[in-house]
Amino acid sequence: MMEAKEQVINLMEPRKQLHAYHQELTAAFERILTSGNYVLGEECERLEQEVAEYLGVQEAITLANGTDALILALEAGGVGPGDEVITTPFSFFATAEAILRIGAIPIFVDVDPTTYNLDVTQIEERITSRTRAILPVHLFGLPAAMEPIMSIAKQYEFMVIEDACQAFGACYVGKKVGGLGDAGCFSFFPTKNLGTIGDGGMVVTNSKELAERIRLLRNHGSARKYFHTAVGYNSRLDEIHAAILRILLPQVDQWNQQRVQLAQRYYEQLRSCEKITIQKPIAGHIYHLFSIEVEQRERLQAYLQKYHISSGTYYPYPLHTLPALAGIGRSGETFPVAERLAKELLALPLHPHLSITEQDHVISTIQQYYQEQEG
Ligand SMILES: *Cc1c(COP(=O)(O)O)cnc(C)c1O
Repeated sequence: MMEAKEQVINLMEPRKQLHAYHQELTAAFERILTSGNYVLGEECERLEQEVAEYLGVQEAITLANGTDALILALEAGGVGPGDEVITTPFSFFATAEAILRIGAIPIFVDVDPTTYNLDVTQIEERITSRTRAILPVHLFGLPAAMEPIMSIAKQYEFMVIEDACQAFGACYVGKKVGGLGDAGCFSFFPTKNLGTIGDGGMVVTNSKELAERIRLLRNHGSARKYFHTAVGYNSRLDEIHAAILRILLPQVDQWNQQRVQLAQRYYEQLRSCEKITIQKPIAGHIYHLFSIEVEQRERLQAYLQKYHISSGTYYPYPLHTLPALAGIGRSGETFPVAERLAKELLALPLHPHLSITEQDHVISTIQQYYQEQEG
């Protein structure tokens, strides 16, 4: 083998993850190519059954992407214009975008500094007569505190829609996320823990009614061809993506376990560095990303880059500070924890194919950076 000059250690490696499945994937492509059935067919149906079984839920509905999963779950759940949805300011934009897309208003609650997820002690003070739903995000693959969230929701009769886009396979108190709330939303974007070679998404639920409504909405509001009972969306999944996801689904637990092991290694090796704060490993976390909290992260990021190590900033702008949300909801609010995390979090390379040698290089480069700082 040719030794490349300097291999870059990437944050994520979806291509490497697919490498071992090349033959199976190619066979699936051939099969679908010749089947003549390309959108929302048998592969999608089977994927729905298999994921429902994997997650332990009654219903799974394949969709075009994770953002649509959030939009359709909210809309099917009866959330509409002027309604308020309680959510986190520290997530990918799509979380707030979905709420805004249906005319509802995101009401933010700051995050817990140890989990980066919704601080449940601050939820009740944000409830008004217009609150209709809580939308927790299982950020970076760590389940949100679903027990207190569900009990608040039950008390006030709100829906709970889980944004589980980063948490396929994550567990909360022994149960897979997605099936804990009224609906769970997943994305199969290539870099997610279970991803295809394009866009894909899914809503899972134990409500037959909600599932039926989402099935209607995803296909132009029609259950019967050319007979439209609602104004819907075109949010169907392609057969090729369903076939790919069916091939990869049996692998996801092992991939997640590899992520957990690498994350634990990062934790053990870096925790003694007093300049770094790291989330304690929590059972059930499946580490979509592994981030450390550091001051002046841009300097560390540039240093790592010099040693051919990629790192990432998720997310540099809390949602309430984004121009797209200017003047919406209760503007002028501050969420200090989210704002600090937005400045300090730095994601390190973590994927199932990261080798120990590569990880050691990342770890020793970080240690070397702080030694030089002291010297
Ligand atoms: C990826 C992601 C989404 C959106 O999923 P897409 O498939 O890209 O539309 C929503 N929320 C979170 C937290 C995500 O990470």
